[in-house]
Amino acid sequence: MLESTPHRRNSFMPYVPIGGTPYVDVEGQRLLMMSGYSYLGLAGDPRLAAAVNAAVDVYGTGAHGVRALAGTTPLHQDLESEIARFTEREAALAFSSGYAANVGTIGALCGAGDHVFVDKLDHASIVDGCQLSGATVTRFRHNDPAHLDARLRAAGTDGVRLVIVDSVYSMDGDVAPLPALREVCDAHGALLMVDEAHALGVIGKTGRGIEEHYDRTVRVDIKLGTLSKGIPSMGGWVSGTPDLIYHLRYGARPFLFSAALAPAQTAAAAEAIRILDAEPQRVSHIQAESGRFRTAMADAGFNIGQSTTAIVPLIIGTDAQAYDYATTCREHGVVGLPVVTPAVPNGMARLRIAITAAHSAEHIDTAIEAFVAAAEQRVPAGE
Ligand code: PMP
Repeated sequence: MLESTPHRRNSFMPYVPIGGTPYVDVEGQRLLMMSGYSYLGLAGDPRLAAAVNAAVDVYGTGAHGVRALAGTTPLHQDLESEIARFTEREAALAFSSGYAANVGTIGALCGAGDHVFVDKLDHASIVDGCQLSGATVTRFRHNDPAHLDARLRAAGTDGVRLVIVDSVYSMDGDVAPLPALREVCDAHGALLMVDEAHALGVIGKTGRGIEEHYDRTVRVDIKLGTLSKGIPSMGGWVSGTPDLIYHLRYGARPFLFSAALAPAQTAAAAEAIRILDAEPQRVSHIQAESGRFRTAMADAGFNIGQSTTAIVPLIIGTDAQAYDYATTCREHGVVGLPVVTPAVPNGMARLRIAITAAHSAEHIDTAIEAFVAAAEQRVPAGE
């Protein structure tokens, strides 16, 4: 009955990209997309289409097997070496999604008798991976290393202790306090894993993620991410030591027992990583324009929470208010997608805005004007 619930009216709307622009066609209306995930602005890049076509010419449309049995192609090996190189690790493994990467990695590293510690706002795929692993799961307060410290102390020293955080939180756009988390992990002999889904291509001077964001003063044990956001393909990845990757090849069940990434997606992802490496100006553009957008929205009186990245929440209030505001924004020509309970706490419903390299300074100005005008319409001055 969800379809008939009026509050959910902005969900599942079909979007058609308008080639080479950040605009989309929604039911015949041309709108500026401000809630997309293609951070690097590479979705629709002809170089990726060329890589896809070349892969389809040779390999056809699917991998037709699991990686261990007939599913591995030179394209998979190329992608994994690009991921390892770009993320500054010796080895990497490509999964069929970021979700599978989290579930597979956590399950391969932890089981009954082990202990996983997750930030309260970690992504659902981390939470699901923890639950499926059979390990004991403990949550700590968001971005609170002192609380993690207390939780680790209380848990004792038996078994593997794995701490997992998002590098950039997908609903709030804030960054994990990595140096302090590393200190706590070291004090307790715990492993530290980060999910870079919203960090790769977005934070760090050249888009290498959270370690580069902190000037490489701190190192994590396991890095993981998706190939469906800044890298506009499909799939997930893990990078780390050759031993870790060997272990995951045979121990990560969603990797071992599910078909390999399609060659076309694999080729697109590898090509996108090469472009990201060659065009770091995309990353600096995201950082500069998102800074400008955050300042403008905060100055206009919006609550943008603790965002310091390309993800900027416009926190509105109740679910119904967020849906209403999203509808008004559409009338002003911009798409800002609402995120409501249970994804965010009651009363904290928001539009989740993401600044990408496809947005020029003019697009950002247009969006700022539209969001402000829509807000003024919602609460007329003087009320
Ligand atoms: N981790 C985080 C932080 C995410 O935001 C997402 C996707 N929303 C995933 C993992 C899952 O990635 P994928 O969509 O590739 O399964």
